[in-house]
Amino acid sequence: MKAEIISIGTELLLGQITDTNAPYLASELPLLGIDLHWISQVGDNRNRLVATLKRAYDRSDIIITTGGLGPTEDDVTREAISELLGEEMRVDPELEQWLRSMFQKISYDMPERNIKQANLIPSARAIANTRGTAPGWWVEREERIILAMPGPPGEVKQMWENEIRPELKRRLSGEVIISRTLKTLGLTEAKVDEMVSPLLSSTNPTIAVYAKLDGIQLRLTAKDRDAAKAEEAIARTEEKLRDILGWAIWGYDEDTLEGLIGNMLRERLLSLATMESCTGGLLASTITDAPRSSDYFKGGLVAYSAQMKAAFGVDAALLAQQGTVSPDVAAAMARAVRLRLEADIGIGITGVAGPAEVEGKPVGTVHIAIDAERESTSLSVLYPPRRHEVKRHAVYSALFKLRQLLLSWEQAVSS
Ligand code: ATP
Ligand code: MG
Repeated sequence: MKAEIISIGTELLLGQITDTNAPYLASELPLLGIDLHWISQVGDNRNRLVATLKRAYDRSDIIITTGGLGPTEDDVTREAISELLGEEMRVDPELEQWLRSMFQKISYDMPERNIKQANLIPSARAIANTRGTAPGWWVEREERIILAMPGPPGEVKQMWENEIRPELKRRLSGEVIISRTLKTLGLTEAKVDEMVSPLLSSTNPTIAVYAKLDGIQLRLTAKDRDAAKAEEAIARTEEKLRDILGWAIWGYDEDTLEGLIGNMLRERLLSLATMESCTGGLLASTITDAPRSSDYFKGGLVAYSAQMKAAFGVDAALLAQQGTVSPDVAAAMARAVRLRLEADIGIGITGVAGPAEVEGKPVGTVHIAIDAERESTSLSVLYPPRRHEVKRHAVYSALFKLRQLLLSWEQAVSS
């Protein structure tokens, strides 16, 4: 099965929006055992769209399009598919009724031009859209499938997950591809590569190593006609990787550090407060990316100057003596904010994001401290000197360190 994706919309070609539909669909196809061979983008132009569809029709078994199903003049996907297949569009009475009922629900009279969304051709049936008024088209002819979906990503996801994917799954009994991502922090890419090198020659699953800002990730991908066998192959290799990488693994697949530490703090009824300097609020921002973070996050101070650090409880003499970038200052920040905000745990970050060094300390220097009543811990690192990345690395390292601390308390309790 050869598949091809066509993203339709002049906005894409003008650079006004970024195509997220194609990557989403691309990530879904392997799970069905469908090979994706081409992705293209084309504007809202009928002739060029027909030409693009024709090329796709000649070389692919499944063509998936998004965009251009709206009611306006510039939405031409339906027209282009009809022209490609030489089939005439007719308003489908059932679809028209559905469309009118959709408008009734929101207490609007249907604008007459919306009637074009009730059009079908003989080879097409409508795909339900529960999020918008544009039904999709499921077209089948000459052993080809054309799937036309509207442009808005939420509608694409809904249609794909509820209407298209289950149907394709049912029909294709090809190989299933399953993948799993292991997320690590605290080891360099080269180190991870070296540690897992005996496994890298494995072909089922394959193992790929990627460097991300929140650490090094390993993606395992297994293929089998039998999904259970693919799952087993992944589980076996994952076990071996866990033995090798141990403490460095913090999560899987969609896990985020802020989400994981959030759950841990919530379960343990612990609260958190932050005082950050070189990360400029990114730590607090990242912590609050997790939904319901107000359950445990008391707040964060962006104490960018020595003056502000001192105003919120960092010893002025210490600042005068050591400057703003030192392990002791990070520890004092963590402690001061914990006490000020009456939190169980405080995190302090100070460092040099660059581009210029500070107080003779090189760009990329970061000191992180975590302070709790029962124990405090710290970490000093030198990251590659790229400002934006230094900030992100520092934030993830702080969250990772917090995770380790919380886990160590748990082990202390259970042993
Ligand atoms: P509508 O009924 O909303 O007009 P449509 O099927 O005609 O739907 P488009 O007009 O092509 O779709 O796109 C509508 C909106 O959906 C765009 O303005 C854009 O915000 C979003 N969109 C469209 N295509 C993509 C894409 N490939 N990736 C991300 N977003 C997209
Ligand atoms: Mg449109």
